[in-house]
Amino acid sequence: MTALDELCRRLRDRLDDSSVITDEARRRTYECDGLAAYAVVPGLVVLTGNAHEVQLVLRLCHELGVPFVARGSGTGLSGGALPHSEGVLVVLSQMREILDVDPLAQRAVVQPGVLNLDVTAAAAPHGYYYAPDPSSQQICSIGGNVAENSGGAHCLKYGFTTNHVLSVDLVAPDGSHVRLGTTAPDAPGYDLLGTVVGSEGTLGVVTEATVKLTRAPEAVKTVLAGFESTDDAGTATSSIIGAGIVPAAIEMMDALAIHAAEEAVHCNYPPGAGAVLVIELDGPEAEVDAQLDEVKVHCEKAGSFEVRLAADDTERALIWRGRKSAFAAVGRISPDYIVQDGVIPRTALAAVLHRMGELADEAGVRVANVFHAGDGNLHPLVLFDGEQEGEAEAAEELSGKILALCLEHGGSITGEHGVGADKAKHMIEMFTADDLDTMQLVRCAFDPRHLSNPGKVFPTPRLCGERPGRHQGTHPLQEAGLAEVF
Ligand SMILES: Cc1cc2nc3c(=O)[nH]c(=O)nc-3n(C[C@H](O)[C@H](O)[C@H](O)COP(=O)(O)OP(=O)(O)OC[C@H]3O[C@@H](n4cnc5c(N)ncnc54)[C@H](O)[C@@H]3O)c2cc1C
Repeated sequence: MTALDELCRRLRDRLDDSSVITDEARRRTYECDGLAAYAVVPGLVVLTGNAHEVQLVLRLCHELGVPFVARGSGTGLSGGALPHSEGVLVVLSQMREILDVDPLAQRAVVQPGVLNLDVTAAAAPHGYYYAPDPSSQQICSIGGNVAENSGGAHCLKYGFTTNHVLSVDLVAPDGSHVRLGTTAPDAPGYDLLGTVVGSEGTLGVVTEATVKLTRAPEAVKTVLAGFESTDDAGTATSSIIGAGIVPAAIEMMDALAIHAAEEAVHCNYPPGAGAVLVIELDGPEAEVDAQLDEVKVHCEKAGSFEVRLAADDTERALIWRGRKSAFAAVGRISPDYIVQDGVIPRTALAAVLHRMGELADEAGVRVANVFHAGDGNLHPLVLFDGEQEGEAEAAEELSGKILALCLEHGGSITGEHGVGADKAKHMIEMFTADDLDTMQLVRCAFDPRHLSNPGKVFPTPRLCGERPGRHQGTHPLQEAGLAEVF
């Protein structure tokens, strides 16, 4: 009997039968997240209903040496929730209770499977909302947001998930239950909450989160600006923020993305635009009005041929519909595409977009750009047809070159989608061996046996217990061909 069989037997004694899924066809439904290029059928799936059940699963995993992977809604785009074939997939989507909404304290306490937009729905009657707004907010979970440190259009002004999480309850890989962070203004000791946010499920399973609620703004104004090129739109973005204005959001779409969105949702963007910016300003009415005038001037100076202010909520919703539908809409113009996610300093936008266009032309591959321009978070969609020989490889190669371009300009290999399984190989391009060793030491403090989401984030299966810093001699894993020195 394998360790997994034994774990399954023990779980069946303790949990409802319907929570422990062994049937192959049902396990297969969890084989991938939003990045379907990677698929692994999990060894076992457990639908946990509360923190005690999560604790039970992780204790048994610890005792029997079985790896586990947490899964929220499975919308991740880096293969972070990719299951382990010999491990347990801990599915948290049934833990969907909003435990408390406290407008006076401006916070909410939620279970990890609660959907992002449901927090806002619960806070709205009190005049509040939950600010981090990934485009997937209707379907992604708070646990997944915490694990990925998710961003969104409005994170430019309000900050990423990490700025909105006050504390989490975490079941550590040995099954212990800890609370990290505090609702007090500050706390002594290490910032372990900050360590867990963005750790992509490698440090344990979040079973509860206390999040900040943000007061709904008095006024919101949305502008759609049409430009001839992404160079001009990039220049406008830099100059608006350089002038000290921090809009709630500045989103950019290029001609191909506009075309796809137009076909899909008829968003009525300026005809003939080579790029559009969706710029949203929010805050006190007088401040928004003053900023609006300035934004118009910056857009026009950068060459905008049309600056259109949404006249009412319907027009505003249509502008956003174009932007928010863009990922799906691109599926109408290409059978397959890679969603790349990289970051560059905002000031490099024009240069990087220009060079990306050249690289795409050289490779003969189409790229549609739709992204959070304000914080330099690019999402080039690299289009291909998997049925045509060589197209997938060409798209993959271009996608890698785009990441290298981001790094050349002082950026990062991921802005918000995380490293997961997909980008672990790129970590060595961004970090030194010493950087990665230090991260491994932190990981090992939580998870010395590498049971929590193994194989993700880090490029090689380095063992805990290794000395950090320069390594001397050959590690047994290297000798076995399982690890390499980076
Ligand atoms: C159309 C579309 C648009 C998107 N737009 C954005 C965007 O604008 N911004 C953005 O940041 N992302 C975006 N994403 C990516 C994705 O939605 C986010 O990464 C989201 O946070 C994932 O949440 P999830 O619940 O689906 O997590 P999953 O995909 O289930 O898991 C993601 C990672 O979190 C870990 N995890 C999940 N729950 C827990 C938990 N309770 N404890 C510990 N670890 C956990 C998993 O192990 C995995 O590593 C988009 C995805 C899609 C499909």
